[in-house]
Amino acid sequence: MIESNPLDKATSLFVDLQNQYPLYPTGFVTCSTEGCNRQARINNKCGHCLEADMAKLIGAPLAHDLHMSIQESRELWRIALDELQTT
Ligand SMILES: [Zn+2]
Repeated sequence: MIESNPLDKATSLFVDLQNQYPLYPTGFVTCSTEGCNRQARINNKCGHCLEADMAKLIGAPLAHDLHMSIQESRELWRIALDELQTT
């Protein structure tokens, strides 16, 4: 990641966080953070670690809410995909 200021850094983290919850099924590997064994998209940190990085910039409560919101929207999208496949 190349960021020159907190806004760019937070924006990049937000996009990375969204990418941890893909719209379609895809491959996962172990998180790139040393010592973390959670699953992550290739060459990136898991949602938990990205949330921790985001928390350093915007505070833990907001970072957590953003992470949960992304997870919830992806879950709704999965339900929508299921709905499309059954109609
Ligand atoms: Zn991790």
